Amino acid sequence: MVEQCLAVASDISQMQVLNPTTVENVLAEYEMPEKSRIIVTNASSLVIFDSMGQNSAGSYALLPEILQALGGNKVFSCNYFDRTIVSRCAVPIYSYGALTGCFYMMEPDPEQGFLIFSLERNILFISVIFELAVILYSMFFSKRFNVRLRRIRNSMRIIRGGDYSHKVNVGGKDELTLLGDEFNSLTERLNASESKRRQFVSDASHELKTPLASIKLLSDSILQNDMDTETIKEFVGDIGNEADRLNRMSSKLLSLTKIESQVDDEKEIVSIGPTVNRVIRMLSTIAEENRITISRDFIQDCPILILEDDLYQITFNLVENGIKYNRPGGTLTVTLNRDEDMAVLEVADTGVGIPADAISHLFERFYRVDKARSRKSGGSGLGLAIVRNMVERHGGSIEVRSEMGFGSVFTVRFPVFDTEEAL
Ligand code: ADP
Repeated sequence: MVEQCLAVASDISQMQVLNPTTVENVLAEYEMPEKSRIIVTNASSLVIFDSMGQNSAGSYALLPEILQALGGNKVFSCNYFDRTIVSRCAVPIYSYGALTGCFYMMEPDPEQGFLIFSLERNILFISVIFELAVILYSMFFSKRFNVRLRRIRNSMRIIRGGDYSHKVNVGGKDELTLLGDEFNSLTERLNASESKRRQFVSDASHELKTPLASIKLLSDSILQNDMDTETIKEFVGDIGNEADRLNRMSSKLLSLTKIESQVDDEKEIVSIGPTVNRVIRMLSTIAEENRITISRDFIQDCPILILEDDLYQITFNLVENGIKYNRPGGTLTVTLNRDEDMAVLEVADTGVGIPADAISHLFERFYRVDKARSRKSGGSGLGLAIVRNMVERHGGSIEVRSEMGFGSVFTVRFPVFDTEEAL
C-alpha cells in the first residue's frame, strides 16, 4: 500500500496544476482498491481532492496521518474496528524538492476484519467453555474434598467422645489418604494405650484392695473381740506387714510409671559387673538367711549404654526372685558373658521352677504363679514387669528357661556399647 501511495504521489507531483481533474487523471492510471478513500491536499492541508466527499474539497483535512505526512513523513497505520481492518497511508508530495502536498489513502477490508471477528468469537466461545469446565471441575473437587475433610472431622469428634476403636475411611489415593492413615495409626496407638491404662487401673485397684481388706478385717477383729495383749500385738503386727506391702506396691507402681515417662538422654556407659557386685552385696544377708549360696561367673564383662539405676533395679529384681523362689540350701549363679555384639547377663537358680504355661504371663503386671507364696514373701507381681520394661527401654531383651523342681534361668541381653563405633 505504501509503495502504491508513493507511486501515485510521485505522478501527482509531475502535474503542472493540482486540481480534482488532474488528480483523477492520475488515479485513472492506477487500479485503486474498491471502497478506498483518497484525499489529496496541498502543503497547508487544504483538500484538493477527496474520493468520498466532493463537498470536503476546499476545506482543511486535519487527519493525524495527513498532518504527519505534511511534516515530511511517510505514515502507515492499520487497525481493527467494528469487524473491519482499516489501513491508512499518507505520503508527502514533493515538487522540485519542495513539499507541495499530501497523498492520503484509507482502505477498509471487511473480509479480513470478519476473519478476525470470527477468530475472536471462537476464542471467546472456547474460553467460556473452558472456564465453565474449570468451574465445574473445581466445584466437583472441592465438594469431594469437603466430604473427605468432613469425614476426618467427624472421626475426630467420635475419638474425642472416647471411642478410640473408630477408624476413618477417607478414600482416594492422595495426601488426604495419607493423613487418614496417619490418623488411624494414631488412634490405634491411643486405643492400645487406653486399654493398657484401663487394665492397669483395674489390676492396681484389685491388688490394692487385698491388703486393705486384710487391714480392715484385722482391725475389726481387734475392735470387736476380747483379745489378750499377745493376740492384739500379733494382729497389729499383721496390720503393719500389710501396710508395708501396700507401701512396697505403691513404690513399685510409681517406679513403673516413672519408666514409662523417662527420657532417653540420661543414659550412661556402664560396665555390668560392678553393678551386679553391688546387688549381691545388698542381698547377701537375705541369701544367708535363706541358706542360698550366691556364686558369680564373670566370663567377660562389657560396657552397655543404660541408666545405672535401671541396671541396678533389673539385677536386683532378678537376684531377689532367685533367692525368694529358691529352696533352702540352694544356689544362685550370676553369669556375665559376651555373645558377639550382645552383653549377656544370666541369673540361674535351683528353686521351685516355673510351669511352662505361666512363662508367657510372667512379665505381665501383677502376675504371680503361686499367689500365696508370692504374697508371703512380700511379692506384688510387679517386679518382672518392671524388669522387662526397663530392659526393652534400653534396647535389650529378656527370656526365661525353667524346669519345675530344678530351677529357672533368666537371660538378659543388651547391645554392647562399642566405643570405637561411637567415636
Ligand atoms: P513378685 O513380686 O510376686 O515376685 P515378680 O514380677 O517378680 O513378682 O514375679 C512374678 C511371679 O513370677 C512371681 O510371683 C513368681 O511366681 C514367679 N517367679 C519370678 N521369678 C521366679 C523364679 N526365679 N523362680 C520361680 N518363680 C519365679
